[in-house]
Amino acid sequence: MKQDKLIQLHQQQLRNFELARKNFKALGQVVYRKLSALDFHIALQYNPARMISTNANVAPEALKARPCFLCKEHMPPGQEGIPYGEHYHIFINPYPIFEKHFTVPSNTHSPQAIDNRFEDMLNLAFDFQDYTIFYNGPECGASAPDHFHFQMAPRHIMPLEEDTENRQLTDTLCRKEFYTISTLKEYLRKVLILKTGERRLLPGLFGQIRQIIGKYIPCQQEPMINLLCWYAQDQWTVCIFPRSARRPRQFYAEGEEKIMFSPGCVDMAGLIITPREEDFRRYNIPLLSDLFGQITAQPSAWQEIITQIKTL
Ligand SMILES: [Zn+2]
Repeated sequence: MKQDKLIQLHQQQLRNFELARKNFKALGQVVYRKLSALDFHIALQYNPARMISTNANVAPEALKARPCFLCKEHMPPGQEGIPYGEHYHIFINPYPIFEKHFTVPSNTHSPQAIDNRFEDMLNLAFDFQDYTIFYNGPECGASAPDHFHFQMAPRHIMPLEEDTENRQLTDTLCRKEFYTISTLKEYLRKVLILKTGERRLLPGLFGQIRQIIGKYIPCQQEPMINLLCWYAQDQWTVCIFPRSARRPRQFYAEGEEKIMFSPGCVDMAGLIITPREEDFRRYNIPLLSDLFGQITAQPSAWQEIITQIKTL
């Protein structure tokens, strides 16, 4: 059983990998808080150890100057992984957010880009059904945009997973015999949810959605997206968050106004990781509405996107 190998890796690394042992132990001390909106909630995690990732300098010069922590030769002493398929290894994340938290980098130092990798994500979701697989685009949350990687988190922790099953929230945009595409209403951030039991349809549908999104949101090598995927009850769920910016203006502000909000998949999925206590105390739904509003697809772009999704 592939999932057993992950648990073995996790246990082995907690014995032999000092940095991970220390940080997973510290995870026991993180504090949570819950914010309730009308039909959903947002969870906050105060986690000082995540300062490094939240504040990561991902400017091209900075990336070139640092040894890449996803390349095997620069990994900290004691870090070991298990091979996955031909192109990846699975490692535990030494800066965890979840009690089981894995990183799946490619074996080679190649840039974060989902093209030609989406099917690998589907394979991971199918092979590890206790986990949600996620992908941060190079300009929206990846702290190593120069080295391709997925991450894996245990299922049923990020509020998004439950929200995609909530009929009160769901607005179906497109219902076909073998798949549906929907969104969540009044959800602070824009999301497209693709559900199907037919795996063969997914690459084509994802390609079409990617193409539509790419016309209306910032798009360098690829449209700015956060992507999550899981497999349950014979069905795939793929969630796509189209973005308009990496960080809100408050991230760059000085003094009182500053907020360390630099969201990736986990934050978009309703679990906000907060490295500073003052931010953790300050968050409320109106503030999050402002912050998410600045970085999610903007209203006019979103209108165009859903109009086109409806014609699929
Ligand atoms: Zn690398």
